[in-house]
Amino acid sequence: LHNTIQELKGNIRVFCRVRPVTTSKNAPRAETTTASMKYPDQEGRGIEFAHSTESATGSQIEKAYPFTFDKVFQPTSTQEDVFEEISQLVQSALDGYNVCIFAYGQTGSGKTHTMEGPLNASAETMGMIPRSVLQIYENAKALESKGWTYTMEGQYVEIYNESINDLLGSDGLDGMSKKHEIRHGPNGKTTITDITTVVLTSPKKVAALLKKAAHNRSVGSTQMNERSSRSHCVFTLRLSGKNSITEESSEGVLNLIDLAGSERLSQSGATGDRLRETQAINKSLSCLGDVIYAISNKDPHIPYRNSKLTYLLQNSLGGNSKTLMFVNISPLMSNFSETLCSLRFATKVNSC
Ligand code: ADP
Ligand code: MG
Repeated sequence: LHNTIQELKGNIRVFCRVRPVTTSKNAPRAETTTASMKYPDQEGRGIEFAHSTESATGSQIEKAYPFTFDKVFQPTSTQEDVFEEISQLVQSALDGYNVCIFAYGQTGSGKTHTMEGPLNASAETMGMIPRSVLQIYENAKALESKGWTYTMEGQYVEIYNESINDLLGSDGLDGMSKKHEIRHGPNGKTTITDITTVVLTSPKKVAALLKKAAHNRSVGSTQMNERSSRSHCVFTLRLSGKNSITEESSEGVLNLIDLAGSERLSQSGATGDRLRETQAINKSLSCLGDVIYAISNKDPHIPYRNSKLTYLLQNSLGGNSKTLMFVNISPLMSNFSETLCSLRFATKVNSC
């Protein structure tokens, strides 16, 4: 049923997730001023912001900004609620599809929380990456009685300044010492040269893997948050299945992507490394948008090669593959204009 719904609608879906107000004692004061939000429909697909401004004559003008997505998760939604809505899509990677799940939004909007969950997450708080691995592992086990055996290989890379770093390498980020190249094989299989591949024999391995990636990222820079807001992180799970009874085989790929912060970065005043960084982020996020539009337009030329991210994901975007984008947004008034930008970008993607 799920697959029919997707085919009717096109291959892209967009879910909006509003993060809750941070309750930590260290939260900045701005956390107390939230934007006015309404969730107008029964199906949980709408979100409406209201913003009041003062007119020239001093009266208050209320302006409403309504949006509709395939699903809207309110601040009270749990990781489990969110996973429930993507679990079918995750399952389709076991059935041999290539799947991409993106988290898009400004820094601090909850992208990493959604994808990875907090460090040392509990069963309740763990994010979409560990939940996906667990589910795939369980489903693969259940398929054993039907003759299927699967191998699962995981990779985790960072794209920073248009170059690829291995987040699972043994000695911190190796961006300085190793150059990783993307290769597309004739069989539609994408590989990265010299990259660490972990065979996931047990679902427990994924927590250690996420910890290692976080460690490598923090070794690579003094300010981890600063860096993670400026790089894309791509977790890739490759699933190869063989059926000993029917001799069928299947190859599926699940990509979970924590995108660089979408906040508009000012290029004025930026020089040198900082300027190059800013340009790289702006370019790769807009290039992702371009690729998605070109695919939905059925353009003869899809500009995959215009950024490392789209080039890496070439075989998992378009064609027979399935794409989902989370647009993560902040509830804060101070983030209102970035939130609007994110929702507008997501609306365009949703129309694809
Ligand atoms: P991003 O990766 O987009 O920069 P984070 O995922 O780091 O944002 O989230 C920013 C802060 O908000 C973190 O402290 C995170 O733990 C918290 N947070 C985000 N989303 C949620 C959520 N759904 N529930 C609880 N805390 C959240
Ligand atoms: Mg993050």
